[in-house]
Amino acid sequence: MQGTVLYAPRDVRFEQRDDPKIIEPADAIVRLSATCVCGSDLWYYRGISPVTQPSPMGHEYCGIVEEVGSDVGSIRPGQFVIGSFFASDNTCPHCQAGFHSSCQHREPILGAQAEWLRVPLADGTLVATPDRPDDDLIPSLLTLSDVMGTGWFAAVAARVQPGMTVAVVGDGAVGLLGVLSASRMGAARIIAMSRHEPRQKLAREFGATDIVTERGEAGVAAIKDITAGIGADATLECVGTAESMVQALRSTRPGGFVGFVGVPHGVNLDGEKLFSSHVGLLGGPAPVRRFLPELIELVCNGEINPGKVFDLTLPLHEVAEGYRAMDERRAIKSLLHP
Ligand SMILES: [Zn+2]
Repeated sequence: MQGTVLYAPRDVRFEQRDDPKIIEPADAIVRLSATCVCGSDLWYYRGISPVTQPSPMGHEYCGIVEEVGSDVGSIRPGQFVIGSFFASDNTCPHCQAGFHSSCQHREPILGAQAEWLRVPLADGTLVATPDRPDDDLIPSLLTLSDVMGTGWFAAVAARVQPGMTVAVVGDGAVGLLGVLSASRMGAARIIAMSRHEPRQKLAREFGATDIVTERGEAGVAAIKDITAGIGADATLECVGTAESMVQALRSTRPGGFVGFVGVPHGVNLDGEKLFSSHVGLLGGPAPVRRFLPELIELVCNGEINPGKVFDLTLPLHEVAEGYRAMDERRAIKSLLHP
C-alpha cells in the first residue's frame, strides 16, 4: 500500500509501505475511508518536536473493517468503524473511569495517513456506526477520532454546564470544535479568541457569541470586560503554549475550571500563581473512546456537523500539500481521501 512518512521537518513523503497485517489476535485491519492531518502533526512537521527517524504519520481514521484477529468478538468485517488515536482495552480501571487514553494497555496509533491501518485491541478501541454511513457524513465521523473528541473533552474537563460563560483559547480545529462542544452543552455565552476572519466566522457558526482578537494582557482584559470583571466560568485551552495556558488560567474566575488539551510545549506553571488563582485544571490526551458512542449518535442524527472544520480536501497522495496548507494557515484542517 501507499502511506505517509515524515523523514525530517517539512519532508513529507507518500511512498510504498508494507501492507498492515494481523499481528496480535486482538487486531483488526481497517480500509480507511478518510484520514486527515492533525495540528499535533505540525509540531513534528515544523521541527519543534524532533524527528529522529522516518516516521509513519497519522492517527485520525475511520473506515471499513477488512479482517479481524481470532480474539476479536464484537467488531466484524464489513462494519464502518471509528477509533481513538490510542488503542485501549475498554476494560481496565482507567478505561472504566473513562480515561481510555491512559489505558493500562494503551498503544499509540501511527500510520493512519495511508490506505490501510492495523488497529490493536480492536474490540476496545473501535466503535461501529449503526449502518454504513452516507458519504456526506464521513468528514464529521472522521473528526470523532480525535479533533472533535478532543474539543468535547476540553469542554467536559472544564465542566461546562448550561448557562455558563465559556472562553475558548485557540482557533485551530480543536478550539473551533471546543466552541461547538460548549454550545451543545448549553453554554449561554461563548467567547472565542481568534484574530483570523474565516475562523471567527466558523466559530460563530458553531455557537460563539463573542470574539476576542487581543492576546496576552489585553486578551485577559477583554474577557474580564465581557464578564463584568469576573472571568469565564470555564475555559478551554486548545493551543499548548506557555502564553495560551497563562491566558486560559487568567481568563477563568475563581472556582472555575480550565480544560487543557493543547499538547504543552514549554509550559511551566508558577505554583504560587496557580495556588492563588482558585482555578481547577484537568487536561491531557483526550479519552475520545469514552465519547464515541454519544458523538456518533449526534453526527448520524444530524445534530452536529463538526466536519465543517475541513476546509481543504485532497486525494491522499497529495498529503504533503495538506501539511503545507495547514502550516501556512491557508487551511484550518486537511481531509485526505485514500
Ligand atoms: Zn484500559
